[in-house]
Amino acid sequence: MQHIIDRFISYVTVDTESDPNSEATPSTAKQWDLANQLVEELKQIGLEDVTIDDNAYIMATVPSNVDFEVPTIGFISHFDTSPDFTGANVKPQIVENYDGKDIVLNKDLNIVLSPSYFEDLLLYKGQTLITTDGTTLLGADDKAGITEIVSAMEHLIKNPDIKHGKIRIGFTPDEEIGRGAHKFDVAKFGADYAYTMDGSQIGELEYENFNAAGVKLIFKGKSVHPGYAKGKMINSMLLANKFISKLPKKEVPEKTTGYEGFFHVNHLQGSIEETEVQLIIRDHSMKKYKERKKLIEKMVKKFNKKYAAKFGEDIVVAEINDQYFNMKEKVEPVMHIVHIAEQAMKDLGIKPLIKAIRGGTDGSQLSYMGLPCPNIFAGGHNFHGKYEYVPVESMVKATEVIVRIAELTAQRAEK
Ligand SMILES: [Zn+2]
Repeated sequence: MQHIIDRFISYVTVDTESDPNSEATPSTAKQWDLANQLVEELKQIGLEDVTIDDNAYIMATVPSNVDFEVPTIGFISHFDTSPDFTGANVKPQIVENYDGKDIVLNKDLNIVLSPSYFEDLLLYKGQTLITTDGTTLLGADDKAGITEIVSAMEHLIKNPDIKHGKIRIGFTPDEEIGRGAHKFDVAKFGADYAYTMDGSQIGELEYENFNAAGVKLIFKGKSVHPGYAKGKMINSMLLANKFISKLPKKEVPEKTTGYEGFFHVNHLQGSIEETEVQLIIRDHSMKKYKERKKLIEKMVKKFNKKYAAKFGEDIVVAEINDQYFNMKEKVEPVMHIVHIAEQAMKDLGIKPLIKAIRGGTDGSQLSYMGLPCPNIFAGGHNFHGKYEYVPVESMVKATEVIVRIAELTAQRAEK
Protein backbone atom coordinates (compact mmCIF):
# COMPACT_ATOMS: atom_id res chain seq x y z
CA MET A 1 0.00 0.00 0.00
CA GLN A 2 2.86 2.39 0.81
CA HIS A 3 4.17 1.89 -2.71
CA ILE A 4 0.88 3.14 -4.17
CA ILE A 5 0.78 6.09 -1.76
CA ASP A 6 4.33 7.11 -2.70
CA ARG A 7 3.60 6.81 -6.41
CA PHE A 8 0.39 8.83 -6.13
CA ILE A 9 2.11 11.57 -4.15
CA SER A 10 4.95 11.74 -6.69
CA TYR A 11 2.30 12.62 -9.31
CA VAL A 12 0.01 15.01 -7.43
CA THR A 13 2.87 17.15 -6.22
CA VAL A 14 3.63 18.08 -9.84
CA ASP A 15 1.34 20.92 -10.98
CA THR A 16 -0.41 20.01 -14.27
CA GLU A 17 -3.37 22.39 -14.35
CA SER A 18 -4.75 22.77 -17.89
CA ASP A 19 -5.92 26.06 -19.41
CA PRO A 20 -9.04 26.41 -21.61
CA ASN A 21 -7.82 29.76 -22.95
CA SER A 22 -4.71 28.27 -24.52
CA GLU A 23 -4.72 26.94 -28.07
CA ALA A 24 -1.56 24.87 -27.54
CA THR A 25 -1.34 21.13 -26.84
CA PRO A 26 -0.68 20.53 -24.05
CA SER A 27 -2.51 23.70 -23.05
CA THR A 28 0.09 24.42 -20.36
CA ALA A 29 3.82 23.75 -20.68
CA LYS A 30 4.01 22.49 -17.10
CA GLN A 31 2.11 19.34 -18.10
CA TRP A 32 5.38 18.25 -19.76
CA ASP A 33 6.97 17.99 -16.29
CA LEU A 34 4.81 15.08 -15.23
CA ALA A 35 4.62 13.66 -18.76
CA ASN A 36 8.41 13.35 -18.96
CA GLN A 37 8.55 11.94 -15.44
CA LEU A 38 6.01 9.27 -16.41
CA VAL A 39 7.93 8.29 -19.54
CA GLU A 40 11.06 7.69 -17.45
CA GLU A 41 9.14 5.71 -14.88
CA LEU A 42 7.44 3.50 -17.49
CA LYS A 43 10.82 2.69 -19.05
CA GLN A 44 12.29 1.94 -15.66
CA ILE A 45 9.48 -0.45 -14.77
CA GLY A 46 10.13 -2.29 -18.02
CA LEU A 47 7.26 -1.35 -20.31
CA GLU A 48 8.01 -1.55 -24.03
CA ASP A 49 7.39 0.90 -26.91
CA VAL A 50 7.26 3.83 -24.50
CA THR A 51 6.49 6.87 -26.67
CA ILE A 52 5.59 10.49 -26.13
CA ASP A 53 4.49 12.58 -29.10
CA ASP A 54 4.68 16.32 -29.83
CA ASN A 55 1.40 16.88 -27.98
CA ALA A 56 2.57 14.98 -24.85
CA TYR A 57 0.37 11.92 -25.43
CA ILE A 58 2.10 8.95 -23.80
CA MET A 59 1.69 5.37 -24.94
CA ALA A 60 3.38 2.15 -23.83
CA THR A 61 3.03 -1.61 -24.09
CA VAL A 62 3.11 -4.68 -21.91
CA PRO A 63 3.48 -7.51 -24.43
CA SER A 64 1.41 -10.66 -24.40
CA ASN A 65 2.82 -13.61 -22.46
CA VAL A 66 0.60 -16.29 -24.01
CA ASP A 67 0.92 -18.19 -27.30
CA PHE A 68 -2.65 -17.70 -28.48
CA GLU A 69 -4.45 -14.68 -29.95
CA VAL A 70 -5.93 -12.28 -27.40
CA PRO A 71 -7.58 -8.96 -28.26
CA THR A 72 -5.35 -6.01 -27.39
CA ILE A 73 -6.86 -4.03 -24.52
CA GLY A 74 -6.00 -0.53 -23.41
CA PHE A 75 -6.16 1.50 -20.20
CA ILE A 76 -6.31 5.29 -20.40
CA SER A 77 -6.20 8.21 -18.00
CA HIS A 78 -5.30 11.91 -18.04
CA PHE A 79 -2.52 13.72 -16.21
CA ASP A 80 -3.86 17.28 -16.31
CA THR A 81 -5.95 18.68 -13.45
CA SER A 82 -8.99 20.93 -13.57
CA PRO A 83 -8.58 24.71 -13.99
CA ASP A 84 -11.57 25.10 -11.64
CA PHE A 85 -9.23 25.14 -8.64
CA THR A 86 -5.49 25.55 -8.21
CA GLY A 87 -3.26 22.50 -8.49
CA ALA A 88 -0.02 24.26 -7.55
CA ASN A 89 1.83 23.22 -4.38
CA VAL A 90 -0.43 20.31 -3.52
CA LYS A 91 0.39 19.14 0.00
CA PRO A 92 -1.33 15.79 0.46
CA GLN A 93 -2.34 14.76 3.98
CA ILE A 94 -2.64 11.14 4.94
CA VAL A 95 -5.37 10.12 7.37
CA GLU A 96 -4.79 6.59 8.58
CA ASN A 97 -7.54 4.43 9.99
CA TYR A 98 -10.21 7.09 9.37
CA ASP A 99 -12.49 7.32 12.41
CA GLY A 100 -15.62 8.61 10.63
CA LYS A 101 -15.37 12.08 12.14
CA ASP A 102 -14.56 15.55 10.76
CA ILE A 103 -11.17 15.87 9.11
CA VAL A 104 -9.53 19.24 9.67
CA LEU A 105 -7.85 20.03 6.37
CA ASN A 106 -6.53 23.39 7.43
CA LYS A 107 -6.58 24.64 11.00
CA ASP A 108 -5.55 28.21 10.18
CA LEU A 109 -8.17 28.64 7.47
CA ASN A 110 -10.76 26.56 9.34
CA ILE A 111 -11.39 24.22 6.41
CA VAL A 112 -13.01 20.95 7.43
CA LEU A 113 -13.90 17.86 5.41
CA SER A 114 -17.01 16.63 7.20
CA PRO A 115 -19.08 13.47 6.75
CA SER A 116 -22.18 15.46 7.75
CA TYR A 117 -21.84 17.22 4.39
CA PHE A 118 -19.89 14.64 2.37
CA GLU A 119 -21.68 11.46 3.50
CA ASP A 120 -19.60 9.26 1.18
CA LEU A 121 -16.75 9.59 3.67
CA LEU A 122 -18.50 7.12 5.95
CA LEU A 123 -18.03 4.39 3.33
CA TYR A 124 -14.34 4.52 4.15
CA LYS A 125 -14.28 4.25 7.94
CA GLY A 126 -11.14 2.42 9.00
CA GLN A 127 -9.38 3.10 5.67
CA THR A 128 -6.47 5.35 4.75
CA LEU A 129 -7.55 8.59 3.09
CA ILE A 130 -5.43 11.05 1.17
CA THR A 131 -6.78 14.60 1.36
CA THR A 132 -5.61 18.12 0.49
CA ASP A 133 -4.45 20.75 2.97
CA GLY A 134 -7.51 22.82 2.05
CA THR A 135 -5.70 25.24 -0.27
CA THR A 136 -5.57 23.24 -3.53
CA LEU A 137 -7.36 20.43 -5.29
CA LEU A 138 -5.80 16.99 -4.87
CA GLY A 139 -5.59 15.77 -8.46
CA ALA A 140 -6.88 12.26 -7.78
CA ASP A 141 -8.81 13.17 -10.94
CA ASP A 142 -7.03 11.60 -12.66
CA LYS A 143 -3.66 10.89 -11.13
CA ALA A 144 -5.34 8.11 -9.16
CA GLY A 145 -6.09 6.53 -12.55
CA ILE A 146 -2.47 6.89 -13.63
CA THR A 147 -1.24 5.46 -10.32
CA GLU A 148 -3.50 2.44 -10.77
CA ILE A 149 -2.54 1.77 -14.38
CA VAL A 150 1.20 2.09 -13.73
CA SER A 151 0.94 -0.09 -10.60
CA ALA A 152 -1.07 -2.74 -12.46
CA MET A 153 1.45 -2.86 -15.32
CA GLU A 154 4.29 -3.14 -12.82
CA HIS A 155 2.45 -6.00 -11.13
CA LEU A 156 1.98 -7.84 -14.44
CA ILE A 157 5.64 -7.41 -15.38
CA LYS A 158 6.77 -8.69 -11.99
CA ASN A 159 4.36 -11.63 -12.01
CA PRO A 160 4.69 -13.41 -15.37
CA ASP A 161 2.58 -16.29 -14.03
CA ILE A 162 -0.44 -14.04 -14.59
CA LYS A 163 -1.40 -14.77 -18.21
CA HIS A 164 -2.55 -11.92 -20.41
CA GLY A 165 -2.57 -10.64 -23.99
CA LYS A 166 -1.00 -7.44 -25.27
CA ILE A 167 -1.85 -4.41 -23.16
CA ARG A 168 -1.55 -0.80 -24.26
CA ILE A 169 -1.67 2.15 -21.89
CA GLY A 170 -2.29 5.78 -22.80
CA PHE A 171 -1.94 8.98 -20.77
CA THR A 172 -3.36 12.22 -22.15
CA PRO A 173 -3.11 15.94 -21.43
CA ASP A 174 -6.03 18.41 -21.36
CA GLU A 175 -8.94 16.12 -20.55
CA GLU A 176 -10.32 18.67 -18.11
CA ILE A 177 -10.74 21.25 -20.86
CA GLY A 178 -12.50 18.73 -23.11
CA ARG A 179 -9.57 18.01 -25.41
CA GLY A 180 -8.12 14.82 -23.95
CA ALA A 181 -9.26 12.66 -26.84
CA HIS A 182 -8.82 15.28 -29.57
CA LYS A 183 -5.29 14.34 -30.58
CA PHE A 184 -5.33 10.75 -29.34
CA ASP A 185 -3.90 8.61 -32.14
CA VAL A 186 -6.29 5.65 -32.05
CA ALA A 187 -4.51 3.86 -34.92
CA LYS A 188 -1.13 4.14 -33.21
CA PHE A 189 -2.64 2.96 -29.93
CA GLY A 190 -3.81 -0.13 -31.80
CA ALA A 191 -6.09 -1.58 -29.13
CA ASP A 192 -9.33 -3.40 -29.88
CA TYR A 193 -10.98 -1.61 -26.98
CA ALA A 194 -9.97 0.23 -23.86
CA TYR A 195 -11.09 1.45 -20.46
CA THR A 196 -10.69 4.94 -19.07
CA MET A 197 -9.80 4.81 -15.38
CA ASP A 198 -11.51 8.09 -14.59
CA GLY A 199 -14.62 7.37 -12.53
CA SER A 200 -15.18 8.20 -8.89
CA GLN A 201 -16.48 5.84 -6.19
CA ILE A 202 -15.26 2.26 -5.95
CA GLY A 203 -17.40 -0.02 -8.15
CA GLU A 204 -18.39 2.60 -10.73
CA LEU A 205 -18.63 1.24 -14.25
CA GLU A 206 -20.09 3.41 -16.99
CA TYR A 207 -20.81 2.82 -20.65
CA GLU A 208 -23.67 5.24 -21.27
CA ASN A 209 -23.46 9.00 -21.44
CA PHE A 210 -25.47 11.89 -22.86
CA ASN A 211 -25.91 12.86 -26.47
CA ALA A 212 -25.03 16.52 -26.36
CA ALA A 213 -25.63 19.63 -28.45
CA GLY A 214 -24.93 23.31 -27.96
CA VAL A 215 -27.44 25.86 -29.25
CA LYS A 216 -26.83 29.54 -29.93
CA LEU A 217 -29.86 31.74 -30.59
CA ILE A 218 -29.61 35.33 -31.78
CA PHE A 219 -32.78 37.39 -31.37
CA LYS A 220 -32.99 40.64 -33.31
CA GLY A 221 -34.96 43.72 -32.30
CA LYS A 222 -35.71 47.26 -33.41
CA SER A 223 -34.73 50.12 -31.18
CA VAL A 224 -36.97 53.17 -31.27
CA HIS A 225 -37.21 56.07 -28.79
CA PRO A 226 -39.51 54.69 -26.08
CA GLY A 227 -41.74 57.78 -26.34
CA TYR A 228 -42.48 57.05 -29.98
CA ALA A 229 -42.24 53.27 -29.82
CA LYS A 230 -45.85 52.18 -30.05
CA GLY A 231 -46.25 49.59 -32.78
CA LYS A 232 -42.64 50.05 -33.84
CA MET A 233 -40.20 48.90 -31.18
CA ILE A 234 -39.27 45.24 -31.02
CA ASN A 235 -37.38 44.41 -27.81
CA SER A 236 -35.14 41.40 -28.50
CA MET A 237 -34.69 40.71 -24.78
CA LEU A 238 -38.42 40.21 -24.35
CA LEU A 239 -38.51 37.97 -27.42
CA ALA A 240 -35.77 35.84 -25.93
CA ASN A 241 -37.66 35.71 -22.66
CA LYS A 242 -40.78 34.53 -24.48
CA PHE A 243 -38.81 31.84 -26.27
CA ILE A 244 -37.24 30.53 -23.09
CA SER A 245 -40.61 30.46 -21.32
CA LYS A 246 -41.94 28.17 -24.06
CA LEU A 247 -39.30 25.47 -23.38
CA PRO A 248 -40.56 22.46 -21.36
CA LYS A 249 -40.43 23.77 -17.79
CA LYS A 250 -39.74 20.48 -16.05
CA GLU A 251 -36.96 19.44 -18.41
CA VAL A 252 -34.10 21.34 -16.80
CA PRO A 253 -31.03 20.01 -14.97
CA GLU A 254 -32.34 20.94 -11.53
CA LYS A 255 -35.51 18.88 -12.05
CA THR A 256 -34.14 15.79 -13.83
CA THR A 257 -32.13 12.71 -12.93
CA GLY A 258 -31.22 9.23 -14.22
CA TYR A 259 -32.13 8.90 -17.89
CA GLU A 260 -34.14 12.15 -18.03
CA GLY A 261 -32.84 14.63 -20.58
CA PHE A 262 -33.04 18.41 -20.48
CA PHE A 263 -32.68 21.84 -22.03
CA HIS A 264 -30.35 24.06 -20.05
CA VAL A 265 -30.15 27.80 -20.72
CA ASN A 266 -26.63 28.69 -19.61
CA HIS A 267 -26.03 32.11 -21.12
CA LEU A 268 -28.19 35.17 -21.74
CA GLN A 269 -26.99 38.59 -22.79
CA GLY A 270 -28.79 41.32 -24.60
CA SER A 271 -29.95 44.79 -25.49
CA ILE A 272 -33.03 46.04 -27.36
CA GLU A 273 -31.37 45.43 -30.72
CA GLU A 274 -29.87 42.02 -30.13
CA THR A 275 -30.03 39.26 -27.53
CA GLU A 276 -27.96 36.12 -27.46
CA VAL A 277 -29.18 32.99 -25.71
CA GLN A 278 -27.05 29.88 -25.33
CA LEU A 279 -28.43 26.60 -24.18
CA ILE A 280 -27.36 22.98 -24.13
CA ILE A 281 -29.39 19.90 -25.00
CA ARG A 282 -28.73 16.61 -23.24
CA ASP A 283 -30.39 13.21 -23.60
CA HIS A 284 -29.26 9.58 -23.38
CA SER A 285 -31.79 8.51 -25.99
CA MET A 286 -30.79 9.37 -29.55
CA LYS A 287 -34.46 9.53 -30.55
CA LYS A 288 -35.33 12.02 -27.82
CA TYR A 289 -32.13 13.94 -28.48
CA LYS A 290 -33.17 14.44 -32.10
CA GLU A 291 -36.67 15.43 -30.99
CA ARG A 292 -35.19 18.06 -28.69
CA LYS A 293 -33.19 19.55 -31.54
CA LYS A 294 -36.32 19.47 -33.75
CA LEU A 295 -38.33 21.26 -31.07
CA ILE A 296 -35.86 24.15 -31.09
CA GLU A 297 -36.01 24.31 -34.88
CA LYS A 298 -39.82 24.27 -34.81
CA MET A 299 -39.96 27.03 -32.21
CA VAL A 300 -37.57 29.14 -34.25
CA LYS A 301 -39.70 28.68 -37.37
CA LYS A 302 -42.84 29.61 -35.49
CA PHE A 303 -41.25 32.77 -34.10
CA ASN A 304 -39.99 33.83 -37.48
CA LYS A 305 -43.35 33.18 -39.11
CA LYS A 306 -45.16 35.17 -36.47
CA TYR A 307 -42.91 38.20 -36.80
CA ALA A 308 -42.19 37.94 -40.54
CA ALA A 309 -44.59 40.69 -41.64
CA LYS A 310 -43.50 43.07 -38.92
CA PHE A 311 -39.77 42.45 -39.10
CA GLY A 312 -39.14 41.65 -42.74
CA GLU A 313 -36.41 39.10 -42.06
CA ASP A 314 -35.82 36.25 -39.64
CA ILE A 315 -36.12 37.59 -36.14
CA VAL A 316 -34.29 34.68 -34.57
CA VAL A 317 -31.38 32.71 -35.98
CA ALA A 318 -30.39 29.38 -34.43
CA GLU A 319 -27.11 27.56 -34.61
CA ILE A 320 -27.24 23.97 -33.32
CA ASN A 321 -24.01 22.02 -32.97
CA ASP A 322 -23.58 18.39 -31.91
CA GLN A 323 -20.97 18.14 -29.13
CA TYR A 324 -20.69 14.44 -28.32
CA PHE A 325 -22.75 11.26 -28.48
CA ASN A 326 -23.75 8.39 -26.20
CA MET A 327 -20.97 5.78 -26.29
CA LYS A 328 -23.59 3.06 -25.66
CA GLU A 329 -24.12 2.77 -29.40
CA LYS A 330 -20.43 1.87 -29.88
CA VAL A 331 -20.06 -0.26 -26.74
CA GLU A 332 -23.19 -2.39 -27.14
CA PRO A 333 -21.82 -4.38 -30.13
CA VAL A 334 -18.89 -5.39 -27.87
CA MET A 335 -20.84 -5.68 -24.62
CA HIS A 336 -18.50 -8.41 -23.37
CA ILE A 337 -16.00 -5.66 -22.48
CA VAL A 338 -18.46 -4.33 -19.92
CA HIS A 339 -19.20 -7.85 -18.68
CA ILE A 340 -15.49 -8.57 -18.25
CA ALA A 341 -15.06 -5.42 -16.14
CA GLU A 342 -18.13 -6.34 -14.12
CA GLN A 343 -16.84 -9.89 -13.57
CA ALA A 344 -13.41 -8.56 -12.57
CA MET A 345 -15.02 -6.44 -9.86
CA LYS A 346 -17.18 -9.31 -8.60
CA ASP A 347 -14.16 -11.61 -8.46
CA LEU A 348 -12.51 -9.05 -6.18
CA GLY A 349 -15.52 -8.63 -3.91
CA ILE A 350 -16.43 -5.20 -5.33
CA LYS A 351 -20.09 -4.42 -5.96
CA PRO A 352 -20.35 -3.03 -9.51
CA LEU A 353 -22.22 0.30 -9.65
CA ILE A 354 -23.37 0.54 -13.25
CA LYS A 355 -25.03 3.82 -14.10
CA ALA A 356 -25.50 6.23 -16.98
CA ILE A 357 -23.21 9.25 -16.88
CA ARG A 358 -25.06 12.56 -16.91
CA GLY A 359 -22.29 14.15 -18.92
CA GLY A 360 -19.62 13.01 -21.34
CA THR A 361 -16.20 11.41 -21.02
CA ASP A 362 -13.12 11.13 -23.14
CA GLY A 363 -14.25 7.56 -23.55
CA SER A 364 -17.36 8.65 -25.42
CA GLN A 365 -15.27 10.57 -27.92
CA LEU A 366 -12.75 7.72 -28.23
CA SER A 367 -15.61 5.28 -28.78
CA TYR A 368 -16.70 7.31 -31.80
CA MET A 369 -13.10 7.45 -33.00
CA GLY A 370 -13.17 3.65 -33.22
CA LEU A 371 -11.97 2.69 -29.73
CA PRO A 372 -14.91 1.48 -27.61
CA CYS A 373 -14.09 2.76 -24.17
CA PRO A 374 -16.18 2.29 -20.99
CA ASN A 375 -15.18 4.13 -17.82
CA ILE A 376 -14.09 2.51 -14.54
CA PHE A 377 -13.75 4.00 -11.06
CA ALA A 378 -10.45 5.53 -10.05
CA GLY A 379 -11.59 5.92 -6.44
CA GLY A 380 -11.54 9.66 -5.71
CA HIS A 381 -14.36 11.90 -4.51
CA ASN A 382 -15.24 15.63 -4.65
CA PHE A 383 -13.21 16.29 -7.80
CA HIS A 384 -12.11 19.79 -8.86
CA GLY A 385 -11.93 21.36 -5.42
CA LYS A 386 -10.30 21.50 -2.01
CA TYR A 387 -12.48 18.73 -0.58
CA GLU A 388 -11.14 16.18 -3.03
CA TYR A 389 -9.93 12.97 -1.40
CA VAL A 390 -9.12 9.40 -2.31
CA PRO A 391 -9.15 6.23 -0.16
CA VAL A 392 -5.94 4.29 -0.76
CA GLU A 393 -7.86 1.01 -0.50
CA SER A 394 -9.96 2.07 -3.54
CA MET A 395 -6.78 2.71 -5.55
CA VAL A 396 -5.49 -0.72 -4.57
CA LYS A 397 -8.78 -2.28 -5.68
CA ALA A 398 -8.76 -0.40 -8.99
CA THR A 399 -5.23 -1.69 -9.61
CA GLU A 400 -6.45 -5.23 -8.98
CA VAL A 401 -9.42 -4.69 -11.31
CA ILE A 402 -7.05 -3.75 -14.15
CA VAL A 403 -4.95 -6.88 -13.57
CA ARG A 404 -8.06 -9.05 -13.37
CA ILE A 405 -9.50 -7.59 -16.60
CA ALA A 406 -6.25 -8.47 -18.38
CA GLU A 407 -6.45 -11.98 -17.00
CA LEU A 408 -10.14 -12.51 -17.84
CA THR A 409 -9.64 -11.18 -21.38
CA ALA A 410 -6.96 -13.81 -22.00
CA GLN A 411 -9.08 -16.56 -20.44
CA ARG A 412 -12.01 -15.64 -22.67
CA ALA A 413 -9.78 -15.75 -25.77
CA GLU A 414 -8.36 -19.17 -24.88
CA LYS A 415 -11.79 -20.81 -24.81
ZN1 LIG B 1 -10.92 13.00 -14.90
